[in-house]
Amino acid sequence: MARAEVVMESKGLTPLSAEDLQELNVEFEERSSIDLVRWAVETFGADAAVSSSFGADSAVMLHLATQVKPDIKIITVDTGFLFPETIAFRDELARRLNLNLLVYRPVMDREAFIQEHGRMWRSSPDACCAFNKREPFDRAKRELAIRCWMTGIRREQSATRRCTPIVQHDHVGLVKLCPIARWTAKDVHDYLQAHDLPYHPLREQGYLSIGCQPEEDYCTRKVRPGEDPRSGRWAGFDKTECGLHVYEQGSGI
Ligand code: SF4
Repeated sequence: MARAEVVMESKGLTPLSAEDLQELNVEFEERSSIDLVRWAVETFGADAAVSSSFGADSAVMLHLATQVKPDIKIITVDTGFLFPETIAFRDELARRLNLNLLVYRPVMDREAFIQEHGRMWRSSPDACCAFNKREPFDRAKRELAIRCWMTGIRREQSATRRCTPIVQHDHVGLVKLCPIARWTAKDVHDYLQAHDLPYHPLREQGYLSIGCQPEEDYCTRKVRPGEDPRSGRWAGFDKTECGLHVYEQGSGI
């Protein structure tokens, strides 16, 4: 039995310590991505899920996860401010991969939110993300009793993601696994080609990281040559993450 399985077997439902996480991360750096997904599914069973934004290269993580567990829960948040192309891409992948898709939405729909809070993405994007992304996602994890969630973020995507560990705790203490953290853009491209999977349709127009677009040039814009893929998000703000992925200065997380 590998060390990761021993650690999990001895811990049961107790949270992992910083030392456990460190040990797991050392071992996980050597494991293949599909093996990491297998570890999550074997360890957490139906309490393991995948979070997907149905962004530029989301098909990779969805395909990997469903190869291991075809009915794994796929959680996505429809903020009400997504590109119509994202909704179409989501529905196309859901059909094609037969996804067990669980769509969560904010408590207020788009119109009610704007009426109550105005164009919050212009003045307080952190608060807007907390309301429209983080709250529905945290609610999903609670309602579905998730203990481990997987995400397709990669170290290469931005400076803030460069030190992403393969396994960590999220802000509420659940296990968060990043099976493709080490992948490069070429790895992604090769995988998509090998499995005949699509990129998000807006990628070819220069959107390399795709989230909301409540109005033109807010929250998501095209990326210029040489910029990192995440630079098109919240341009003009000191913000690079929506709150689902939290990075602490100096923590390596
Ligand atoms: S990405 Fe923009 S519109 Fe979407 S929740 Fe965050 S601030 Fe609001």
